[in-house]
Amino acid sequence: MAYVKWSRYLLPTWKEEPAEAEIPSHKLMLRAGLIRKVASGIYEFLPFGYRALRKVERIVREEMDSIGALEMKLPVLQPEELWRRTGRWEDFGPEMFKLTDRKGQGFALGPTHEEIITELASREISSWRDLPLTLYQIGEKYRDEIRPRFGVMRAREFLMKDAYSFHTSWESLEETYNDMYKAYYRAFLRCGLKIKVVEAPTGVMGGNVSHEFMAVAETGEDEIALCSSCGYAANRQIAHARPPSPPRVEERPLELVETPGVRTVEELVEFLGVSPSQVVKTFIYVGRGGPMAVLVRGDHELEETKLLQAVGDPTLRRVDDPDEVEGIAGAPFGFLGPIGLRIPVLADEAVRDIPAAVVGGNREGYHYVGAKPGRDFAVERYLDLRRVQEGDPCGHCGAPLRIRRGIEVGQIFQLGTKYSEALGATFLDRDGSEKPVIMGCYGIGVSRILGAVIEQHHDDQGIIWPVEIAPFHVVIPVLRPDMGEQMELSERLAEALDGAGMEALLDDRDRSPGEKFHDAKLIGVPLMIVVGPRALKRGEVEVERRRDGAKTSLPADPASVVEGVRELLRAESI
Ligand code: ATP
Ligand code: MG
Repeated sequence: MAYVKWSRYLLPTWKEEPAEAEIPSHKLMLRAGLIRKVASGIYEFLPFGYRALRKVERIVREEMDSIGALEMKLPVLQPEELWRRTGRWEDFGPEMFKLTDRKGQGFALGPTHEEIITELASREISSWRDLPLTLYQIGEKYRDEIRPRFGVMRAREFLMKDAYSFHTSWESLEETYNDMYKAYYRAFLRCGLKIKVVEAPTGVMGGNVSHEFMAVAETGEDEIALCSSCGYAANRQIAHARPPSPPRVEERPLELVETPGVRTVEELVEFLGVSPSQVVKTFIYVGRGGPMAVLVRGDHELEETKLLQAVGDPTLRRVDDPDEVEGIAGAPFGFLGPIGLRIPVLADEAVRDIPAAVVGGNREGYHYVGAKPGRDFAVERYLDLRRVQEGDPCGHCGAPLRIRRGIEVGQIFQLGTKYSEALGATFLDRDGSEKPVIMGCYGIGVSRILGAVIEQHHDDQGIIWPVEIAPFHVVIPVLRPDMGEQMELSERLAEALDGAGMEALLDDRDRSPGEKFHDAKLIGVPLMIVVGPRALKRGEVEVERRRDGAKTSLPADPASVVEGVRELLRAESI
């Protein structure tokens, strides 16, 4: 007897909305007894939640195996020394959990495994004959997130599938990258997710080409820019739009004007009677190469990811302490401008074409008007640094871009040789020359998928599980478990379903029928078979579909129920 009796199971449900949760999936995961919180960003999976997690894991594993990736297991504890060799002991920053052993050796709880796997590759791969090779694991990752939230969505301990591929050529990397792309898409589809694949920033991983798999959801933390005309889709942080036309103003000579107490773009617009597109905002950043100034138009926002990516320095940070700004630029905060600055200046491309700009005067209470880029101040590099807005013209075809929200459930990267060079992972090529291995890496947020699925599949009564990852296929509320006949029939049905490979949860708890129906909706199992007096009297059971409440009557004998339920589940699966 492998079916589950609720009275003997740990599946505690909550009637009340938990105050600790903000979004539907987090609330429902708590209320439907999937998870419990231990500390900020650290969760237990209770048996019901763990069943779903294991199914997600199984789908991901099957898809990885199907493209020839080899499953293995890497340690969570990783030596500091390895991370020093790639420079990421610093680059990863305070997100890494760091600790020291009794001998004083530094370690980290792995937030990701490029260092470990590349060091492994440096030992185990020696010849072109060993390549290509793709390895993967499914295991815990640790990241000391600034803001853990939304339950398993942004946790500090979470389950990830991470894969790494090794190649002799970029063509070979691209082949595996494309296989991964398709395998990812299939895995998410099987989990029941609606996905948008977008061009993605590479951040602290490095490399050039990267895609993110976004589960479309209002509550997602990421923003994506989409073009419905040409299909362009990108993470908003790197999305490219055509530069807008310059403000229609006449060129004029540079002039320093008094602007007492006028600091913000809005105040300048008011005070000088100019348009925000004529104003240029100046920011100070410091990184490894020292300080720099960054310019964007007054009606635009600076997209920091684009700046970090262009400069290639993940330690770059904005200086917003007025004293520190004054120390670096020699100018008061709020009156900062590019004219006469003795640090490098980068600017968004839309700044280049302003015929007469308003910029800070680098003196308390003054601004320049009529400033012309190139004539009055030098710009080292013009870049796309602007945050795209809804309706901006698509960088490829000019049609208006839409902005939507999504949950990043996976990301894939073409890394190149960043790690193999740093850690000496080389191979002997056919011609006898030694070359660094070319790498890709590929992550899936296995535990985050559960949150994303529930975010996309729920109603005001509870979860609506897609069949493939549902913790159970059928719930059987027994209206009067104290009545022998009802229990007997329910047990016979549950047993028969189980024997036919369908997972049944028998609700034999000592609760009212109302509570049982309520909980059945809440936990969201795809089908419900009600066993009550009617079933016995008429020899018929009613199967109710969670998704839409559709009801089907079946003869109350085990064989008919097995057949009927199998049909209904088949119609639900992808
Ligand atoms: P994010 O931008 O959301 O912080 P990331 O880009 O840092 O994620 P990756 O390094 O690409 O994450 O990790 C691979 C996958 O692991 C992500 O696509 C995501 O699904 C998942 N993931 C990352 N951070 C977390 C977290 N704190 N909690 C749960 N899942 C996470
Ligand atoms: Mg990512």
